[in-house]
Amino acid sequence: MSSLALLILVIAVVAVVLIGVVIGLVVRGRKPAPLPNTHTDVLVQPPETAADTEAPPVEVSAPPATIDKPESTASRLVRLRQRLAGSQGGFGRGLLALLSRDRLDEDTWESIEDLLLTADLGVAPTQQVVEGLRTRLRVEGAPQDARAALRDELVALVDPSMDRRLQVSGTDGKPGVVLVVGVNGTGKTTTVGKLARILVAEDRRGTPGAADTFRAAAVDQLATWGERVGVEVVRGPEASDPASVAFEAVEHGVNDGVDTVIVDTAGRLQNKAGLMDELGKVKRVIEKRAPVTEVLLVIDATTGQNGLIQARVFSEAVDVTGVVLTKLDGSAKGGIVVSVQRELGVPVKLVGLGEGPDDLAPFDAEAFVDALLG
Ligand code: GDP
Repeated sequence: MSSLALLILVIAVVAVVLIGVVIGLVVRGRKPAPLPNTHTDVLVQPPETAADTEAPPVEVSAPPATIDKPESTASRLVRLRQRLAGSQGGFGRGLLALLSRDRLDEDTWESIEDLLLTADLGVAPTQQVVEGLRTRLRVEGAPQDARAALRDELVALVDPSMDRRLQVSGTDGKPGVVLVVGVNGTGKTTTVGKLARILVAEDRRGTPGAADTFRAAAVDQLATWGERVGVEVVRGPEASDPASVAFEAVEHGVNDGVDTVIVDTAGRLQNKAGLMDELGKVKRVIEKRAPVTEVLLVIDATTGQNGLIQARVFSEAVDVTGVVLTKLDGSAKGGIVVSVQRELGVPVKLVGLGEGPDDLAPFDAEAFVDALLG
């Protein structure tokens, strides 16, 4: 063989190898994304040792082809304030009509009291409002402006001095971790999805972790929420250990440098000891990787006193730092904001005002009372 032929042969072999390598890389790069609503298996370890051994491979849902842009905070607030006024306005208008009567006799004060109690304000706060208004009347004679008097009393009860900022940022280069707890059906999973959207709208990177592994639908639901806004969701197989999935979500968040990991949890209210065990374990395991910066308790505004009793059990199981009051759109009982804060001693930080993806708003005491009074 001539040296020219040999050279051509060598070049041909090198070219074939190079083409092979390039094709290989392209094929790997095009690996199809997992379909929404299909389980990706996170192989989980016993949670208490998860941080001490090599982390198992975590599968996360991939970003979707088309990403949905969440509504901006400003336009969301205007829209949701109107919705709040719609669901609670009857209560405010009723009170104002009573207070504006020429003669405020005992029957009228009783009707005012009834109206406040019907709105789930609770007995002690109701008495406080009525006493406050009566004193004002004695001092000022007929109140010149019933609306302003009522507004002052209600704002004081809702307490604008409470710190309602969400602690979504971590320190030392670690993500913030928001743990979302509450009874099943209150709107936890929906809230995790909506919260991820708020983070996206504010140009932050958030990763939901689907640790409500007892409900396959919750895991699928969260994956779909993630798909829509283009955030990765860490999920495990049905019935896997919630603490392990929570750990994996935080581990993924730390490695990926995200701003916030939002962990959905199971809300089975079997008994207090069981709940404490489960939530305590989830929190302990997470904290092997990053501190939990916020524990949000989700309460359904339509469940009234029953919801409050359940809330108390959760708050005894884990240190709650804020409340999300959901379904305020479907309840005329806005007074529950006050009852919940008194009962648990923590502020309402967010309110859910619908099933839509952007129907979650930060809670603001004065704006809330203004919406009540129309
Ligand atoms: P979870 O079991 O606590 O995770 O509850 P889900 O997130 O699955 O929610 C239970 C139901 O409540 C779903 O049908 C949600 O669409 C609905 N939901 C959640 N938040 C709100 C809200 O703020 N308003 C209304 N009207 N429905 C809500």
